[in-house]
Amino acid sequence: MSESFDVIVIGAGPGGYVCAIRAAQLGLKVACVEKRDTLGGTCLNVGCIPSKALLQSSEAFEETQHKFADHGILVDGVKLDLSRMLARKGEVVGANVKGVEFLFKKNKVTWLKGEGKITAPGTVEVAGQSYSTKNIVIATGSDSMPLKGVEVDEKQIVTSTGALELEKVPGHLVVIGGGVIGLELGSVWRRLGAEVTVVEFLDRITPTMDNEVSKQFERVLTKQGFKFKLKSKVTAAAKTAEGVTLTVEPAAGGAAEELKADVVLLAIGRRAYTDGLGLDTVGVERDERGRVKTDHHFRTNVPGIYAIGDVIVGPMLAHKAEDEGVALAEQLVGQAGHVNYGVIPSIVYTWPEVASVGETEEELKARGQEYKSGKFPFMANGRARAMGDTDGFVKILADKKTDRVLGCHILGPDAGTLIAEVAIAMEFGASAEDVARTCHAHPTLNEAVKEAALAVDGRALHI
Ligand SMILES: Cc1cc2nc3c(=O)[nH]c(=O)nc-3n(C[C@H](O)[C@H](O)[C@H](O)COP(=O)(O)OP(=O)(O)OC[C@H]3O[C@@H](n4cnc5c(N)ncnc54)[C@H](O)[C@@H]3O)c2cc1C
Repeated sequence: MSESFDVIVIGAGPGGYVCAIRAAQLGLKVACVEKRDTLGGTCLNVGCIPSKALLQSSEAFEETQHKFADHGILVDGVKLDLSRMLARKGEVVGANVKGVEFLFKKNKVTWLKGEGKITAPGTVEVAGQSYSTKNIVIATGSDSMPLKGVEVDEKQIVTSTGALELEKVPGHLVVIGGGVIGLELGSVWRRLGAEVTVVEFLDRITPTMDNEVSKQFERVLTKQGFKFKLKSKVTAAAKTAEGVTLTVEPAAGGAAEELKADVVLLAIGRRAYTDGLGLDTVGVERDERGRVKTDHHFRTNVPGIYAIGDVIVGPMLAHKAEDEGVALAEQLVGQAGHVNYGVIPSIVYTWPEVASVGETEEELKARGQEYKSGKFPFMANGRARAMGDTDGFVKILADKKTDRVLGCHILGPDAGTLIAEVAIAMEFGASAEDVARTCHAHPTLNEAVKEAALAVDGRALHI
C-alpha cells in the first residue's frame, strides 16, 4: 500500500476538481484521480468550454456576414477558416485545463493519473498502485446516451465530442434530439453554413423548459433556418458513400420515411458513467438509470463512499456538480455544506439565449400552486433595440399571496447573464416587488427583468 489520504476524489470534472480544491482548502490531504490526459472533465475538455468557444466564433462569423450591414459596417469577402476556428477552441480548452492543474498545485491536491478503481471501502487502485483513504468521492460524470440502430463512429455519426471536431462544414446536419446540446451545436454548424434538421421524439424542443418559452424558442430558431421534425423517432442509420440515410418514423407509430444527412449528431441525452469503477465489488447501489444512489448528504449505501455531479440524480450541469463538490467537502469537515436545488439556473447558449431558474408554469400548475405572472418583451427594452436583439421576453412567476418569486424564464440576448439576478433574489427569498423596486441601471437588458417584476403587479412602465 502506498500513500494514504483523507479524501480520494475519482474524476476531475467540475464536481471532482472543485471538491478536491475545497477539501484541500479546509485542511484535508486530498488526491484526485483522472484518467484523461488533462484535468477538467467533460466540461472543460469536450463540453461547456469548447462548445462555448465555437458558439462565440460562429456567432462572430454570422454577425459579420448578416448583422454588420445593418449597423452600416460593410465587410466584403468574409471567409471561414475552420481549422483556425477549431485551433482557437483548442487553445481556449488548453488554457482552462492548465488552469486546473495550476490550482491543484497551489492547493496541494495530488493528481493520481490513470483509471481509479475502488477495490474495498477506503481503498482505491490507480495504475497498479493501491492508495488508502478515509473518504472516497465518486465524481466520474457522464457520457452520451447511445441509440439502438445508430452506431457512432465520431466521423459521420457523431456525439457532441465529434461535433466539436468536424473537419468540414456538413451540407446537411441532422441532429437527433432537440435538447440543449443538440441545439447549441446545431447552431454552431448552421451559422457556419450547414442546413440543420432536428428530429425530436416529443412534440416540442427543450421539453423541460417553460412551455411558452420553448414554443417561442422554436419559432426563433425556425426563423434562423433550423428545420424541426417533432413527434418523430430515428429507428435506423445506414452509412452510404454519400453520407448517412436515417429511417425516421412518427413517434406514435406509422409509415417510415428516409432522411439523408452528411453528418448525424446523436444528442438524446447523457447517462451516468461508472464503467470499471468497481461499484459491484464494494456493493455501491445504483438506481434504475445507472446513477449512484445517494442521500441528501451525498452518502452512498457504503460508509465512507460519496458521490456528486452527473453521476447522481439531478440536472446534468457543471455548476450543480461544482456546488455539490463544495457542499460535500464542507460536510466532510463537519460544516453545514448545502445545495439549494430549487435555485439552479439552466441556460441554452444559442443566440438569443434561453435561461431559467425555479419552477415553470406547468410545474406550478401541477402542484396546485397559485401564482401571478409578469412578462416583458425585449422589443420594448431600449438596450435590446440598440443592440438589434429584440427577440424574446422575460417572464417572472410569483406566489399569488406572498409575491415571493418562484421562477423566471428568459428568452433573449444575454439571458444567461440576466438570470443571475433572479437566482440571487430567489436565494434571498425576494418578492417580485423587491426586484421591481431595486434601481436598475439604464439602458441595460436587466431593465427587462425589472419590468417583468413590475408586470407581476400589472404595472410595467414601458409597455
Ligand atoms: C457538449 C456539452 C456541452 C455542455 N455545456 C454545458 C454548459 O454550457 N453548462 C453546464 O452547466 N453544463 C454543460 N454541460 C454538462 C457538463 O459538462 C457536466 O454537467 C459536467 O461536466 C459534470 O461534471 P462532473 O464533474 O460530474 O463530471 P465530468 O465533467 O463528466 O467529469 C468526470 C471525469 O471523471 C473521469 N473519470 C471517469 N471514470 C474515471 C475513473 N474510473 N478513473 C479516473 N477518472 C475517471 C472522466 O475522464 C472525466 O474527466 C455540457 C456537456 C456537454 C457534453
